[in-house]
Amino acid sequence: MVPLPTRLYDHDAAGLADLLDGEPRYRVDQLWDGLYRQLAHPDELTTLPKALRARMAGDEGLQPALTPVASSTDHDGATVKWLFALPGGPQVETVLMHYRDRTTVCVSTQAGCAMACGFCATGQGGFERHLTTGEIVEQIVAAARQARQDGRRLGNVVFMGMGEPLANLDNVWPAVERAHGALGMSARHLTLSTVGIVPGIRRVAAQDLPVNLAVSLHAANDALRDDLVPINRRYPLDVLMAACTEYLAAKGRRLSFEWALIDGTNDRRSDAAELADLARSLPLPAHVNLIPLNPTPGWPTRGTPPEGVRRFRQWLDDRGVNATVRRNRGTDIDAACGQLAARVPRADRGAGAGAGASGSQVAPVELTRR
Ligand code: SAH
Repeated sequence: MVPLPTRLYDHDAAGLADLLDGEPRYRVDQLWDGLYRQLAHPDELTTLPKALRARMAGDEGLQPALTPVASSTDHDGATVKWLFALPGGPQVETVLMHYRDRTTVCVSTQAGCAMACGFCATGQGGFERHLTTGEIVEQIVAAARQARQDGRRLGNVVFMGMGEPLANLDNVWPAVERAHGALGMSARHLTLSTVGIVPGIRRVAAQDLPVNLAVSLHAANDALRDDLVPINRRYPLDVLMAACTEYLAAKGRRLSFEWALIDGTNDRRSDAAELADLARSLPLPAHVNLIPLNPTPGWPTRGTPPEGVRRFRQWLDDRGVNATVRRNRGTDIDAACGQLAARVPRADRGAGAGAGASGSQVAPVELTRR
């Protein structure tokens, strides 16, 4: 297996100090402050001595990992999606979302995904490679920088982009710690989303930081879930619920279930009843996030229409389960849940067939806020 690249944001403060052997400690602190408090691009750190900047410029290991390939903004300017190229060629997407009261970034944790959920565009494309800690951290830093330019403060990170975070926990967890430590984000505002990797849930439960856990459930009986979310065959619902109970016991915090509403598949009254039973089987009932299924190229079934979504939510409510209907952000730029597939945005695809595979040849697109 090709080793993963190591770049600037892969290093913690001690690692940077080691690498910058010979530089006084206050210089390392200054660099750290520039990267994580000022959110500066390394080229902009003009307060550092020229010699140090030259040293960094000449060392690949002290350069950023992400190359912006394209970015797109949705019709109201509230959602921005970037396509980044990683060393070695894979591409991932990052989505920044401004809400009335908060700003959130959705980061990718793997290039592609091995979980093979049929309704998810990333799953349809298969697995390429894990992201490094630095590649994940750099997405957060890039989003924080953009948010600041937009006059907002990035307050929330959801690890809900491409990939399965708990299948790459060795790299994801240090990124969580960096967001908490260096970027000063509250653990309550960091959310790991998982398809239900039970050993990963247990590992996160054993960590100190009380981050949020979102479990992508989508079905509340094993027969349907085996079909929609193939990893269920390895970690069926009773095993998954036991791990969720452990998580709750360790953190004392409510967790959430994600439920992509698929027309005629998991939006019936009986589905709501089964879901409510599962949500209420936990010591603290789970909160349910309902997401009408977003369209993807490789899945025929539609999302539940708005009336069905309202009805489903009411059924849950009648059974004492709180549910929020997630506003669909970024569907017009394929940036919504399940639509991330690392291809060049529609407007840039032009006539070139297969443009998605050769995205690195596309010039960066200027960010336009309409
Ligand atoms: N692998 C992780 C995180 C990435 S997916 C996980 O499964 O949780 C982020 C969320 O989008 C998950 O809840 C996923 O089930 C959901 N999702 C995937 N495809 C979707 C689609 N086409 N429409 C709506 N939500 C989708």
